[in-house]
Amino acid sequence: MITIANEPSFRESVDLMVDRAMTVMNLDGGAAAAIKSCDSLLQVQFPVKIRGKIEVFTGWRATHSSHRLPSKGGIRYAPYADQDEVEALAALMTYKCAIVDVPFGGSKGALLIDPEQYERDELEMITRRFAHELIRKGFLSPSTNVPAPDVGTGQREMAWIADTYKHLHPEDINYIACVTGKPLHHGGIHGRVEATGRGVQYGLREFFRHPEDVKTANLSGFLQGKTCVIQGLGNVGYHAAKFLSEEDGVIITAVIERDGALINDEGINIEDLYQHINAHGSIINFPGATLEENGAAVLEKECDILIPAALESQITLKNAERIQAKLIIEAANGPITYGADEILNKKGTIIIPDAYANAGGVTVSYFEWIRNISHIRLGRMSKRHDETQGMQMAAMLEELTGSKISENLRKSVARGADELDLVRSGLDDTMRTAYQQIRETLTSNDNINDLRTASYVTSITKIARSYLDIGVY
Ligand code: NAD
Repeated sequence: MITIANEPSFRESVDLMVDRAMTVMNLDGGAAAAIKSCDSLLQVQFPVKIRGKIEVFTGWRATHSSHRLPSKGGIRYAPYADQDEVEALAALMTYKCAIVDVPFGGSKGALLIDPEQYERDELEMITRRFAHELIRKGFLSPSTNVPAPDVGTGQREMAWIADTYKHLHPEDINYIACVTGKPLHHGGIHGRVEATGRGVQYGLREFFRHPEDVKTANLSGFLQGKTCVIQGLGNVGYHAAKFLSEEDGVIITAVIERDGALINDEGINIEDLYQHINAHGSIINFPGATLEENGAAVLEKECDILIPAALESQITLKNAERIQAKLIIEAANGPITYGADEILNKKGTIIIPDAYANAGGVTVSYFEWIRNISHIRLGRMSKRHDETQGMQMAAMLEELTGSKISENLRKSVARGADELDLVRSGLDDTMRTAYQQIRETLTSNDNINDLRTASYVTSITKIARSYLDIGVY
């Protein structure tokens, strides 16, 4: 966990934000405690022989809620991971799933490891051994608990986990659904890798569809031409920055990474930078911008939109007052501490909170899980049928109007949706609907003044209803 002096821990910070929402809701104390508490927590320690020596690894999996099954949440590999962080992230998953109407409980896992210190084969051994522990102890299966990638893990680790589960449970016809975020040829779904960043883009687009909301952030107009600072160019940050700059005309004026920040007020070409990082392992010597060694200080740079997409606890009591962004969208989990959140709210900075903003990942994981348990690629049954219908429609239009339609128009009318189209459409709809529900909560209750509290009230209302419907067992 990243600890900040004189501030609550990450888990306490999440709880304090949830408490703020529960107070507004006047929720019964028992129900509040039931929703907030972490259902179960597993800590494992297991030995793996690395380069002739035995090393003992520590990992966790927290199931925050199981009112809906499976419980869902990523697995993080980080040298700072600990139980508090895992519990905080698992809790966020509960609220996140409810916000975007994904019918899952909340869970999260972590392994205390610096993956950069290990070779590929060593990481495979460690991952398979960790997965083995989680499976044997009932914390990983398609029906009860389904991990996904997070910081330090990706498709490769998910494939190893799925394969480990398959070997232990060959009789489970749904074995491939035991984990999401898998490679395409291994049961993955088109659009999962980009999903969280894509969700950030769709969330921002929806925010800018509401001029009154844009005004509360002291902004005007549309996304086009807005300046943006982004922290972290990993999976989430890269996709968010790429899509926003290439498709929406957002100007990325600074990128903050581990080894400093790059600044260019004319805009940084994200694809060029990403290729540079891949080739050199660092942002240093990138020709398209100026390097600022104190990366964290660049969070305070003037901009319209700030996107923290790296880690938790980046905006704290120490720097919150100096943050100049008008709008912050939390692509990372927990980048703003509770104290900083209070300061920013007072300053009038609008925050689109993590539990909504980065829900694109779990949303597309849900689509992948459905694809896996239904054993069919999305769109496989309907694509050609839709194409035929489109052709007939085009022919009918020509007959009725007596004029030929252009080849381009014919192609677009007579195109059946493939899996990526369906995934993006489902994600877009999810992000729009969820934002509209949150703003409805915000505008209909005078005691709610910020999008985070509105998100939690929206989410907790759904969770409480589900607890009350099934009763307490
Ligand atoms: P990642 O490991 O792919 O990327 C993280 C990036 O942040 C890396 O480029 C890293 O170099 C950079 N970074 C690390 N420390 C930094 C620092 N101090 N300052 C600046 N940059 C720093 O991880 P990710 O999957 O992109 O996840 C990022 C955040 O998004 C995390 O909070 C994660 O929990 C959250 N998230 C991820 C997903 C997902 O689908 N991957 C889904 C929901 C939420």
